[in-house]
Parts: sequence; structure tokens; C-alpha cells
Amino acid sequence: MNRDIITVTSPLLPSLEDFNEYLRKIWDSKWITNNGCFHQQLEAALAEYLKVPYVSLFTNGTLPLITALQALRISGEVITTPYSFVATTHALWWNGIKPVFVDIDWKTGCIDPNKIEAAITPKSTAIMPVHVYGKPCDVDAIQTIADKYGLKVIYDAAHAFGVEVNGKSILNAGDMSTLSFHATKVYNTIEGGAMVMHDEKTKKRIDYLKNFGFAGETEVVAPGINSKMDEMRSAYGLLNLKQVDAAIEARHQVAIKYREALRDVEGIEFWDDLPGVKHNYSYFPIFVHAEQYGMTRDELYFKMREQEVLGRRYFYPLISDFTTYRGLSSATRENLPVATKMAEEVICLPMHHALSEEDVTRIINCIIRK
Ligand SMILES: *Cc1c(COP(=O)(O)O)cnc(C)c1O
Repeated sequence: MNRDIITVTSPLLPSLEDFNEYLRKIWDSKWITNNGCFHQQLEAALAEYLKVPYVSLFTNGTLPLITALQALRISGEVITTPYSFVATTHALWWNGIKPVFVDIDWKTGCIDPNKIEAAITPKSTAIMPVHVYGKPCDVDAIQTIADKYGLKVIYDAAHAFGVEVNGKSILNAGDMSTLSFHATKVYNTIEGGAMVMHDEKTKKRIDYLKNFGFAGETEVVAPGINSKMDEMRSAYGLLNLKQVDAAIEARHQVAIKYREALRDVEGIEFWDDLPGVKHNYSYFPIFVHAEQYGMTRDELYFKMREQEVLGRRYFYPLISDFTTYRGLSSATRENLPVATKMAEEVICLPMHHALSEEDVTRIINCIIRK
């Protein structure tokens, strides 16, 4: 049988015709980057869509993390999670900050607020949690601790595009939140990202920092970097914003089918939607309990691959297991038992807007037929 490979994700692409029309406008104006008309439109449109006061676009999702730390003048130690994409911790490294890993909560995959206080030292300056898979962190508990110890909170919200709790954007939590619009994410601008902030003054400062620190033709206010988004990708992003709701709904339907089919499979655990949360279905992680399931995570993962169903072991290995970070005293398995277990049991099933009924059946059959 000649079947297509099912990939873990597939980029949401705007119609080529519509994109061409926007490109024509860009060509006519000859304004291709530096806060052009599409850039301004996309920032405004995203602020409205995401229900946040201010958005600053970036060229990817890593540079706003690095820039947020710079803008808040974070130094010393920052408390973070090992269960994320490696960019979260790299952003600390790029600022000369020591990461301090804290374990996660099995119910969400996010940092466990109950374990944060024990990791605070006189050198702690901030907490950098991740809304992993778009699951909201316990932002109230985190803020209470941050306020008690005078720490800043920067959320890596790369997975949390459009996620709301009780009608309010999760992106309003903490001092700043950052997004990634990489091709693999729910909403993409090919490469791209953004920072969300609460006030105009911060927005202005961030806009300087992402453009070398320029605050005018001849004035440089800080050693900024170049992390601007260009007009082509801003235009592409405007078009994708119009279809992202439909794409999220298509993902939702896939999640419903997965849950129906896997509910009674012994040894396969997954999460249900949380009450009051508007999810974005960015990922569908399952956790393979080898003893009950009769197969290890890796056995299932490679069996799926043989059948050309490509899941991903997000997030394995843990960031704390990479050579750069494994020497840190907080990087041990004893300190991170929940994260260690999750990293060893997780497979993210294929999840995107273009999965067909047939694809979903094929994926499910890999898992239920042992
Ligand atoms: C994708 C991602 C990033 C990095 O975003 P890029 O746009 O690829 O630079 C950062 N953190 C998390 C959790 C991510 O998933």
C-alpha cells in the first residue's frame, strides 16, 4: 500500500493569490521592512485578536525572550522549567543568567508553583515559566510568589496563541509574554514572533531594543539587537490571522476524535480540556505507561514511524539533560522527577488543521492495535 507520510504538523498557508496581491502592494511601495504599513497593521490586528494591550512583532520567538530579559535588566539566577523547547533556557544563557530548573506539574506539564519557593536564592531575579502545549500555567500562584520575593515574571507563551482563561487572554499574565510564529506553530508567519506587554512605555522601549536601540535618526538609547519582522511576513501574517480560527477548530475536532478513540486504551494517558479555558489545540501529547500498555514509549514511537505516522517526542530530552545545562545543580533527575517521567513517556501525536478523517483513523490504529 502506498500511503502518504503523516507529519506531526503542517503549516497553515495563506492563499497564494491573496499573498500575491499584498506582495504587489509591497513592491509598489518599495517599503520592505522597518515598521512598514503591514507591520503596523499586523501589530494592531494581533493586539485585538489576542485581547492584549500592546504587541511588538519580532523576527522569531527566541529574540523576544532574550529581549524581555534585557529590557527588565534580569541577571543572576532565573527559575524556569526543563520541560520546554530548548530556546527557553538558551535565552537565559544568552544573557549570562544561570537557569535554575524547577519540576513540573503532571496535570499540565507546566512549572509546579509549589516547588518554586525552595529554588529561590538571594540571586534570584525572575521566573520564566512556559505555558507548555498551550496549557495555562497557574499564573495566580506564580504571581503571588513573584510579588512576595520581588521577582519579575516572563512567560514563554510560544505555544499559547489565543489561549484564554475565563474570557481573558493568558498573555496578560506576568510582566511580559512572548510568542513564536514559527512554521510549526498554530499561527505562523513562516519565522516570526512577538512580545506582549502591558504599557505604552514598555512597548516603545521594546521597539527601540529590537532595532539596535535606535530612538531616532541619531539617538541610540541601549545596546539593542536587530530582530524586526519584515513587510512580507507581516502581510503573510495578516492573511493567516483571518483563517487561524478555522484552523484551531479543525484541530479541536481532531482532539475530540483522539480522545474518543483513546479513552479506554489501557496505559495511554492524555489530558482533557480544562474548565473555563479556551484551548488552541497546538499539540496533542499522550503519555505511554509501558507496564499497562505493554510497550514502551519508544517502541510505540518507532512502530508509528514504521507506519509513516510521525509523532514527536516533545519534550525529550529535557533541557536540563543537554550537555550545556546538565552540570547545573538543579539539573538532576532527583530534582526533576515529574519532568523526567513526562519526557520519558510523551509522544505528541500529529496535530494540524489539514489532517483528514482517514489520517486520524490511521494514527489511532497505530496506537490501539498492539
Ligand atoms: C518554538 C518555541 C520557541 C522559539 O521560537 P522560534 O520562533 O522558533 O525562535 C521558544 N519557546 C518555545 C516553548 C517554543 O516552542
